[in-house]
Amino acid sequence: MSEEASKSSKTQPSLDTPPTPAGMPKFGASGKKIIYDEDGKPCRSCNSLLDFKSATHFNKGGASNSNASSKVPPGLTGVAGVAASSNTTSEGDSGSLECPPDVNELGRATWTFLHSVAATYPKEATLVQQQEMTTFISIFSKIYPCWFCAKDFQEHVKKNQVKVKTQEEFGRWLCDAHNEVNVKLGKPKFDCNLWKERWKDGWKDGRCD
Ligand SMILES: Cc1cc2nc3c(=O)[nH]c(=O)nc-3n(C[C@H](O)[C@H](O)[C@H](O)COP(=O)(O)OP(=O)(O)OC[C@H]3O[C@@H](n4cnc5c(N)ncnc54)[C@H](O)[C@@H]3O)c2cc1C
Repeated sequence: MSEEASKSSKTQPSLDTPPTPAGMPKFGASGKKIIYDEDGKPCRSCNSLLDFKSATHFNKGGASNSNASSKVPPGLTGVAGVAASSNTTSEGDSGSLECPPDVNELGRATWTFLHSVAATYPKEATLVQQQEMTTFISIFSKIYPCWFCAKDFQEHVKKNQVKVKTQEEFGRWLCDAHNEVNVKLGKPKFDCNLWKERWKDGWKDGRCD
């Protein structure tokens, strides 16, 4: 397999993407393919911050602003500011800088929201609640800000109809959906027997109590 083919196969997206604009890099510093919006600009919510910066700084001498990661976000002072300024990751996570989210920060926050919704979903849902949740997942899959993630998720929902009769059913459906993304990204599958411990009751060893 060529180097380019091996790079493409280990990374997202699985659906067609707009072509790389002329004069812009195809791959980011992480080795992953850079995702561009239809207007040719790098998609912030589709790339890690590291790769987004690889593209936005490409014609400006390459390197991103090395001071940026040590800056305290506006509005954070004292201990919060110190913690924030020292809390960046090697993937260039945007969280600690209070910048618009990259694909990873957006994903973590969204999964936290979705699994928490499952954790508070009725144990036995009424027909109206089932319809509302089905509609929510359908709309969610269309508006998710990472457009290629959204397209894949829409495909997933088409092939695996959302299960909404009970909390357990919905929680497991969501866990399976999350696992499909984990597998796509080469991450280990989460044990769905544990979804409630992770997102509702806390771990049995008491560390969350
Ligand atoms: C709908 C959707 C589609 C996405 N598609 C893509 C994509 O195509 N490409 C891409 O690069 N990123 C995508 N993401 C983001 C991606 O899933 C991750 O959020 C991101 O890579 C950060 O991963 P993470 O390792 O921090 O943990 P996350 O995957 O964000 O998980 C957060 C926490 O959830 C728990 N967890 C993990 N798996 C499960 C599970 N199956 N069930 C329950 N709990 C679990 C773990 O405790 C984990 O620490 C998508 C996100 C969403 C919400």
